[in-house]
Amino acid sequence: MTDQEVLGPIIDGKVVASGSTPKFKAIYPVDGKEICEIYSCGQEQTDAAVRSSEEAFKSWGKTSFGERAAVLEHIARIVEENLEYFAKNETLDTGKGIGESLVQIGNSAKIYRYFASAIRSHEDRYIRYDNGTASVVIREPFGSVGLILPWNAPSMLLSWKLAPALAAGNCAIVKPASVASRAALNMVLRFQEALPPGVLNAVTGSGPDVGNALVKHPGIRKISFTGSTAVGREIGELCGNRLIPATLELGGKSASVIFDDANIERAIQFVMLGSLSSAGQICIAGTRILVQSTIYDSFVEKLKTKFDTLRVGDPMDSDTQMGPVINKNQFDKVMGYIDSGIKDGARLVIGGERLTGGIYDKGYYIAPTLFADVKSDMTIACEEIFGPVLSIMRFDTEEEAVSIANGTEYGLGASVWTKDINRAMRVSQALEAGTVWVNFYLDSPAGSPFGGYKKSGMGREIGKIAIDYYSNIKNINISSSDDVPPIF
Ligand code: NAD
Repeated sequence: MTDQEVLGPIIDGKVVASGSTPKFKAIYPVDGKEICEIYSCGQEQTDAAVRSSEEAFKSWGKTSFGERAAVLEHIARIVEENLEYFAKNETLDTGKGIGESLVQIGNSAKIYRYFASAIRSHEDRYIRYDNGTASVVIREPFGSVGLILPWNAPSMLLSWKLAPALAAGNCAIVKPASVASRAALNMVLRFQEALPPGVLNAVTGSGPDVGNALVKHPGIRKISFTGSTAVGREIGELCGNRLIPATLELGGKSASVIFDDANIERAIQFVMLGSLSSAGQICIAGTRILVQSTIYDSFVEKLKTKFDTLRVGDPMDSDTQMGPVINKNQFDKVMGYIDSGIKDGARLVIGGERLTGGIYDKGYYIAPTLFADVKSDMTIACEEIFGPVLSIMRFDTEEEAVSIANGTEYGLGASVWTKDINRAMRVSQALEAGTVWVNFYLDSPAGSPFGGYKKSGMGREIGKIAIDYYSNIKNINISSSDDVPPIF
């Protein structure tokens, strides 16, 4: 299977690689080399994508649950049969380790299969009332929905949005981030063999231009956005103004609360996994580590030893555990946070610098960085860094731990580490986060609803409930009587 030489908007199953719109480049984060050129969308192509989608909806919106399930199963097969190809594309776009890409693409296939099964087994509701009437409550698709992706996990997040959107009977228009469009566009192209033309289109280009045009387009009936809190707020305002629903999956600053009775080796392993995956460029990065004072010093030492032995290098090498950050912008942002941690008086335990020599000189590699003695009001403890930087804080009591953990404007995820089941339950309930993991982290199976509290977003993705977020409720009231009633 070969890639398209040139990519661009995908409308009615075909790449629109012509016209006067500017092109942008797909860049490999590891060496800064150009992989391909991508045509951007002008208003004309965005209009065409929406028109094609509206046309396709006339029949796709009427498909049976079984027909949609069959299409989703077909897409799952395409993903499974091209697992390595898609994983390589994901790494070429993002620089994340190939092992991690393989896991994410494998999970995407499971997401498509899950929603095939969820829609096949979907049951509408029948409600009987005391007055002898009844209603049938059904879910109906919105029509054309806009799916806006971030650059950090484009292939997997495409599945999180596309699978429930199609299951609910919508047509989708995908807008990948311009710094990582190629993997998602290639997937959208491969999926065309499973779908009628126009059911899945894509628009390409910058967020403020093309993303904004999609959100404002009168033919778009719902937006699902994953990205930063700042842009999410802007999109939320636009959707509010248009009175269309928006699912917003935004930033995070997730806490791991580690009590002294926890399985420390396991906690450390998951802290590494949860904070250094994709070089820390994940929304759910568990980078605020709260450790009980009684084990604080030994925990920091053990984590430092693990950081020291992490294999940072070529992401195409399956032994590599961490690759570079995506580009200079992200590098500068992360290094700025490291400087602020040092200036604020946090103790730099390990890392803190750009790695150099060999492959490191071509990409933006940041040494895994650990700060200890972090105070909860320091910038590195409060703001999303989106890089391989962890802050370790100290607590004495359960109440103090909860108060520090909740002391951020974000509320995406959290984890609790203890063998005491009562405490695990108490703390999980007290934490302000959309997902709390107890004695593990990160794993988000297709059936588990995912989303944020506070400024981490609105709505939920994946889990059966996601179908509700992609559909309207219609209540059909039925009378079984032929009587002619009096008027008052
Ligand atoms: P971003 O907000 O800069 O961009 C996200 C997407 O929105 C891109 O496709 C971009 O082109 C588009 N966009 C930008 N401005 C727009 C506008 N004005 N109108 C419409 N679209 C616009 O985010 P990013 O830098 O690509 O991704 C990183 C952020 O995403 C982080 O904050 C991270 O936490 C968040 N994220 C959240 C989740 C989650 O599930 N909660 C998952 C992954 C990433």
